[in-house]
Amino acid sequence: MASIFDSPVYQIANAQYDRVCDWLDVAQDVRERTRNPKRALVLRIPVKMDDGRVESFEGYRVQHHLALGPTKGGIRFHPDVTLGETAALAMWMSWKCALAGLPYGGAKGGVACDPHAMSRGEIERLTRRYTTELIPFIGPKMDIPAPDVGTGEQHMAWIMDTYSIAMGRGEPGVVTGKPVILGGTVGRREATGRGVAFLVNRAMDLLKIRAEGATAALQGFGNVGSQAALTLAASGVKIIAVEDHTGGVHRAAGLDVRALLDHATATGGVAGFSGGDVLDSGAVFSLSCDVLIPAALEAQITGKNAPGLRCKILAEAANGPTTACGDEVLRNSDIFLIPDILCNVGGVTVSYFEWVQNEQNFSWSEIEINDRLYRILEKAFQDVLNFSKKHGLGMRDAALAIGISKVLEAKRLRGLFP
Ligand code: NAD
Repeated sequence: MASIFDSPVYQIANAQYDRVCDWLDVAQDVRERTRNPKRALVLRIPVKMDDGRVESFEGYRVQHHLALGPTKGGIRFHPDVTLGETAALAMWMSWKCALAGLPYGGAKGGVACDPHAMSRGEIERLTRRYTTELIPFIGPKMDIPAPDVGTGEQHMAWIMDTYSIAMGRGEPGVVTGKPVILGGTVGRREATGRGVAFLVNRAMDLLKIRAEGATAALQGFGNVGSQAALTLAASGVKIIAVEDHTGGVHRAAGLDVRALLDHATATGGVAGFSGGDVLDSGAVFSLSCDVLIPAALEAQITGKNAPGLRCKILAEAANGPTTACGDEVLRNSDIFLIPDILCNVGGVTVSYFEWVQNEQNFSWSEIEINDRLYRILEKAFQDVLNFSKKHGLGMRDAALAIGISKVLEAKRLRGLFP
């Protein structure tokens, strides 16, 4: 693949796309038009560091397709961010939004930096300068960023403030995932993890696994992982293991998730938590459990470790956690898969609610938010399940086939200009 986007993660997204396009029998020219991002911006972001040096970071924003509305997708601050990874994540956002019926094309942004090694002031200056460079590219009717790995509500507040100052008016709708007081929505912080837990519960119903006493293990204990763990624990599921970038903890009788979150918030990670035993890096993927939830980064489940998975349900809370080889193993196993574009769609769904509220200068209650969220999740789950049964496809291919078909149909109906 001769493409500036070529990278291991872009290859995962493309392998999935080609599999499904083969199955849908999509003509080669149509396939290529829809595969590659519509627009991509590469930025050099100079930042004055606390010691007086100027450090130049590389940042990106990729808009995958514009056929269904403005584009939407998170912003990642992580050392491994590349243009290719950003393009892959934008592509997945396209299929995800289409699957759930949200009026967006996919986008993603990121800066290659290590936020754990930066001061708050440095991160604020980086965020504001990145936003300034992005001004011609983003906006409530153009492209609406949100949090992803390494960013959260505070970053969204800085983006909204920087953009609003440049426009000369308040523009809360330029980002979602903002603090509630600045026009964010109740329930957004919890939405992705809450959605993961809702879908895990639906899969457990299907497999006749009782939540009370069922076991779950997670990789990743940030926004998504911690909220999924808290919600599952509240429905009676025992969280037996959690691994993050600092280490892993295990307790067969179930971890105290709230205490683990307090510890991780205070110390920066789960390592050193006294309420469990130390778990070696990667060991979470070979634990026997009902539900395994990768909620960290891409390419964690590979051809190498997938044969050793001992879960009944694999809930892909992270984007792209499974490589093409890992997926091949999963397709030939009995594991019930909740694929990423379905599993974590709760996040962008409540982001959509936030954007709608901003556009209308109106706010909904948390009951309203959750009720609307669960209705969209239930429909998406049923759509994927029914498609999978009807066509004898796995859950991943079924979810992708629905999302990709909708984007292709939108492009076909809009036609080609001129
Ligand atoms: P976050 O920054 O809040 O948390 C990331 C977690 O991953 C942290 O616990 C970190 O320690 C862990 N991690 C990082 N590197 C690791 C490694 N090498 N080994 C083990 N753990 C590691 O990020 P998040 O917002 O929770 O996002 C997690 C995943 O969910 C990402 O794939 C993201 O794209 C996806 N996602 C997030 C949202 C959202 O609303 N935040 C929505 C949809 C999908």
